[in-house]
Amino acid sequence: MEENCIFCKIIRGDFNTEFVLENDYAVVFNDINPAAPIHMLVVPKLHVESLNELDNEELLGKLMMTVREVTKKIGLNSYKTLINTGKDAGQEVFHLHIHIMGDKK
Ligand code: AMP
Ligand code: ZN
Repeated sequence: MEENCIFCKIIRGDFNTEFVLENDYAVVFNDINPAAPIHMLVVPKLHVESLNELDNEELLGKLMMTVREVTKKIGLNSYKTLINTGKDAGQEVFHLHIHIMGDKK
């Protein structure tokens, strides 16, 4: 948990963000500035700055399975996933997250 991290604050419940899904290791919520009709973020409960800092293979697998879990939950069969890593690639929030973007359910 990082004091000044917006996603850690969301996970802590500071903004009463509605979670589309929560499990033991991640939360999923809607992106505040959606780039597609359906745009969710899968965010690990553990604060890791980016993919470059992640040394936990098991967690990465669990996050991808969370993508499966949440898309199945909302009936989204077709979607894109994206991980921005580093400023130059467009990463704005330095707490690892997987974007899920889809057009229709
Ligand atoms: P990235 O550019 O990969 O770091 O993505 C950060 C994403 O987080 C952007 O798509 C933002 O719209 C989204 N975002 C930032 N703050 C919030 C928030 N408070 N609630 C939901 N999404 C957020
Ligand atoms: Zn964080």
